[in-house]
Amino acid sequence: MGDAEAFTREFLPLYHPVPPARPGVCRICHSGPNDSEATGGPWATCASCKRTTENLYGHTEHVVPISLTAKDTQLYDIVVRKRDPAGRRKRSDFLAATVACFYRRHAACLQGLAGGPFTLVATIPSTRTERPIEAFHTMPQVVGKVGALARLHRPLLLEADDRLATVLAGRRSHRAAFRVRGDGLAGARVLLVDDLFVSGAHAQSAASRLIENGAAAVVVLVVARLINPASRDPYSARIWRESHDRPFSFDRCCVSDHQAATGAGRAS
Ligand SMILES: [Zn+2]
Ligand SMILES: [Zn+2]
Repeated sequence: MGDAEAFTREFLPLYHPVPPARPGVCRICHSGPNDSEATGGPWATCASCKRTTENLYGHTEHVVPISLTAKDTQLYDIVVRKRDPAGRRKRSDFLAATVACFYRRHAACLQGLAGGPFTLVATIPSTRTERPIEAFHTMPQVVGKVGALARLHRPLLLEADDRLATVLAGRRSHRAAFRVRGDGLAGARVLLVDDLFVSGAHAQSAASRLIENGAAAVVVLVVARLINPASRDPYSARIWRESHDRPFSFDRCCVSDHQAATGAGRAS
């Protein structure tokens, strides 16, 4: 992935910056919908995260999207495999370059959330109802192309229980939706990598299972967080609008919203 920087530069207009947590921006997934109907004021977590973190063995408070996205955008179409990023490039190369560029700058931010360096990298298996069969194994491939993550990757760590696929498809989490293969999770700090975060049902179900099997910390890194700018909730529309007001840069992240030292300087 030596050309990850050059590769992603070509696609910078496709990404949209993710805001740090604040009132109106969910502290877990950094987006919305986030409007409490009772008070009209923002919740600390969005409606999806509220629903998907209930009734689990445990959940993660740490979801780090690299970009926001909405339906009917190029990024969304690439992530859900409706199209390739460019004729000569593969979707997995695009995703790997995106993850590599981000991880290179923000490994310390992610490790800070985990309480130390990651000891394992895992991917979230797709469930049968939602993806074409050929897309099943994309994320293990993607992680395999990112040098810093490949050496910690345990490809078969998580396995979907397809009997619960319809629960996840309904945007509900379930503590038994995934099984863990093998052991060695006691005290592990796990980076869970996925392509798209919609409700968090998959990510939180997977996190729950890892925690139940002994993981000390789970941080979820996703390429894109889907939001609905047309939501009745005013916070989603504002988050989406703001994400167009400033250009995306790999030097920033939603954890600390800093500019990495490698950047060309501080944007004001
Ligand atoms: Zn959320
Ligand atoms: Zn960062």
